[in-house]
Amino acid sequence: MENALPQEIEITKIATSKITEVDFENLTFGNIFTDHMFVCDYVNGEWQTPKIVPYGPLTLDPSARVFHYGQAVFEGMKAYKDEQGDTYLFRPDENYNRINKSAERLAMPAFPENYFFDGLYALLKLDNAWIKSGEGNSLYIRPFVIATQPSVSASEADQYRFMIICSPAQSYYSGDVSVLVAEKFSRSANGGFGYAKAAGNYAGQFYPTKLAKEQGYQQIIWTDSNTHEYVEEAGTMNLFFRVNDTLLTAPISDRILDGVTRKSLIALAEKQGIVVEVRPIKVSEIVAAAKDGSLKEIFGAGTAAVVSPVKAFGYKGAHYEVAPQENSYAAHFKKALLDIQYNMAEDAFGWRVKVQ
Ligand SMILES: *Cc1c(COP(=O)(O)O)cnc(C)c1O
Repeated sequence: MENALPQEIEITKIATSKITEVDFENLTFGNIFTDHMFVCDYVNGEWQTPKIVPYGPLTLDPSARVFHYGQAVFEGMKAYKDEQGDTYLFRPDENYNRINKSAERLAMPAFPENYFFDGLYALLKLDNAWIKSGEGNSLYIRPFVIATQPSVSASEADQYRFMIICSPAQSYYSGDVSVLVAEKFSRSANGGFGYAKAAGNYAGQFYPTKLAKEQGYQQIIWTDSNTHEYVEEAGTMNLFFRVNDTLLTAPISDRILDGVTRKSLIALAEKQGIVVEVRPIKVSEIVAAAKDGSLKEIFGAGTAAVVSPVKAFGYKGAHYEVAPQENSYAAHFKKALLDIQYNMAEDAFGWRVKVQ
């Protein structure tokens, strides 16, 4: 990708901050946004001067292609504040690289690295008061790109908008989840774009998930689209299965999103001498392990919840419980990752990045 020249960011500050109106003790995820947002348009084959402006609605032509063909990609990352008031990101290069990987698959232009980081850092500086210290508090960061070209012709656009919006978040314990193993629906297929954080991948999951909810499950474990015999991942989380003391997780493919949390957990586990098998995992194998008691844990891994324990799963009309574990890997890994993220533990892998 071409090395773009560093550009000044045009900053327009909000007249009066909205922060005093926010109840930081009672946040629900993703509903409140900080004072500012980062915006950069792509026209005539070039990214224009980036801007930071007060958070607010956009004006787009109704024919903008994103509305019709879903040409849109996004990222999800978090900023954390330690007790000294310093702000940190966790492996942000991974998010930067991934949004461009997603963009490439959707025939969208790559976003320059210096724009991404200069914009993100400037935004985090400006809205720094919105990042609260204390474990569980964070700022959820949502970079995204949409096709803005006004035209309903079904092809890739020549105008785009890159944006970053930020939402203060708390961690909640919403209870361990029950999940349904997909037998009919698929979220992705060979040759598709399951590996991309592309809007359409999520839109297509809402209906099957709605049906699963009617059966008392909160989420779906997606299986491979060819045979539905292999477990892949959940809606916005990669999956880990603990059988006896071995961790199993499916290999990354063009159907599965390459999660930062997943690869961080694999690295942490291997460092601690826990055996991790990255290989195709049959549903039948998990069912057998649930029946003979060797299935100790199932958990999802993703930026939003870090680690999310699964207490039961449904498959072919049967319901399997996963009994709570005394020395749970899920709890152990959650703490290990949070301690690194909040600058409370040594960062052996160099994952933490201080926002200057
Ligand atoms: C975002 C996402 C994940 C988790 O990725 P992280 O980088 O760990 O947040 C897993 N699966 C899907 C489908 C996702 O969208």
